[in-house]
Amino acid sequence: MKEMIEAMIPDIALNNGKTIPQLGFGTLSVQPDRQDTAANAAIAARIIGDALQIGYRHLDTAQQYGTERGVGEAIAASGLRRDAVFVTTKLANANHRPDDVRRSFDETLEELGLEQVDLFLMHWPLPTLYDGAYGSTWRAMTELLADGRLRSAGVSNFQPDHLDRIIDATGVVPVVNQIEVHPEFSNTAAVEASRRHGIAVEAWSPLGQGKVLGNPAIVRIAADRGKSPAQIILRWHIQHEHIVFPKSTHLKRMQENFRLFDFELSVDDMATALDKGEAGRIGPNPDTFDWMP
Ligand code: NAD
Repeated sequence: MKEMIEAMIPDIALNNGKTIPQLGFGTLSVQPDRQDTAANAAIAARIIGDALQIGYRHLDTAQQYGTERGVGEAIAASGLRRDAVFVTTKLANANHRPDDVRRSFDETLEELGLEQVDLFLMHWPLPTLYDGAYGSTWRAMTELLADGRLRSAGVSNFQPDHLDRIIDATGVVPVVNQIEVHPEFSNTAAVEASRRHGIAVEAWSPLGQGKVLGNPAIVRIAADRGKSPAQIILRWHIQHEHIVFPKSTHLKRMQENFRLFDFELSVDDMATALDKGEAGRIGPNPDTFDWMP
């Protein structure tokens, strides 16, 4: 059964020779708020435990989601081998100084109750904060690769010029760039820049936080194919070779979002014009985002 589940989800090759399951489970807001409390961890662990039970083997968390503890508790309770679950977490905006990168990574391992993290991302570049020193933040993150507690390092919300800058400064290419992408916001410049560097694209808020589900073209394709709008959108990502981790707290939706590999969208479906350009962006613009939790 385990082999069957693991075989269903394709792996995407990373530029350092490692792989990542293309479909994962997003943990932002699976608990009532971002507070790191035992009560929140118990709620998150129950929902994430359901995801593992369904067959999800890739979990996306972050220092600033407050869900690292719940992720760790769910993995521990699942009985799965540690290497059967791919765990991504992200550096909080408050932790960009090199000393804070190192200290907070130690705390992250503690929170997760793990000895090793599969992927650690710089959550936001914050070009208007820290005197724009995200290059030194990136250098400190890549130094974590040396002692085996971190398997891969990547970035999130990086625009083309941000990628150029850290690669020029360190020579180390991130393995992924986790950026906002969904059918109404194809984020072409950041996707193409990532691919040019050999960086895999992770699409955050793959369902546009639910806002894209009512798009009339998506609804029509869903009716034609006998699938739900969520499945159509997630399959669109899969065929674009995006890595995705939709979030839901409802068991039925979590199951539905996992069933993406028994159908295909046609060339015409994939060519349907859905992109609204910059107007389709839902989240903040990484060039100006400066939120400090
Ligand atoms: P999402 O696009 O996954 O949408 C989630 C929402 O869609 C749910 O709350 C629910 O309302 C709806 N939904 C989910 N499945 C559904 C279904 N089958 N049918 C109907 N409605 C359904 O939004 P998200 O949680 O913002 O993004 C997913 C993950 O991406 C997050 O959990 C997080 O891990 C990551 N993320 C990262 C960043 C970043 O800056 N790196 C930002 C946002 C999110």
